[in-house]
Amino acid sequence: MKLPQVIAIDGPSASGKGTLSRRLAAELGYFYVDSGAMYRTLAWHCLNKAIAIPAEPKLLNRDTEKPIISELRRWKTELREVEGSLWLHVAGYFPKTEIRTNAVEKVVPIIAQIGKVRDWMVAKQRECSTLGPLVMEGRDIGTEVFPLAPVKFFLDASPAARAARLAGRGNVADTKRDEYDEQRKQGALIPAIDAIRIDNTGQSVEETFAVLLSQVRARLKLN
Ligand code: C5P
Repeated sequence: MKLPQVIAIDGPSASGKGTLSRRLAAELGYFYVDSGAMYRTLAWHCLNKAIAIPAEPKLLNRDTEKPIISELRRWKTELREVEGSLWLHVAGYFPKTEIRTNAVEKVVPIIAQIGKVRDWMVAKQRECSTLGPLVMEGRDIGTEVFPLAPVKFFLDASPAARAARLAGRGNVADTKRDEYDEQRKQGALIPAIDAIRIDNTGQSVEETFAVLLSQVRARLKLN
């Protein structure tokens, strides 16, 4: 069986996975895929359609999930490459800035709890690997999406370091979001058993990047 050429990078918010995944993909000439952007795109789409999204995961049930799941059958999506990255487009449009608003951030961990939403996203994320080698970042890439990925990282940093990084970006630390992501039944935020775990508290991006690159080179037998 041919293994997918995927480097999986998982971790909580502000663990550095975005910056490092993008750099690693550019260095290796792989596509960069931000799986969180796909969940955000669905959240944005539902908000646009004025679909009610429960305020807490415990309010999810067959009735509240139904209109969200229905959109997965209805919305017209495709994966498109933009400057070396693959992004989910809706009706030909990628909502690049719209998916970064507070409104989207508030509802995205709720819709990400829905089993059928996760199934749809996992299938779409696997489809990315048919387009070429990838560095994909997320929460469940090494555990659910590509359990056979030849290289997996799980990045983390202390709560204080992550809160400081978020503050630097003008965001407040949203401990609820990480809590919801860690506690859900399907696709929970946990390190894969074979993931290389890196705590980058106090490390510069350069330092962590050097560690990632040397691990990738060793594991993929690159020079
Ligand atoms: O990575 P980002 O912070 O943009 O992800 C937004 C949200 O999407 C996460 O908080 C999580 O609820 C969801 N997500 C997920 N699985 C992934 C990536 C993101 O559930 N693989």
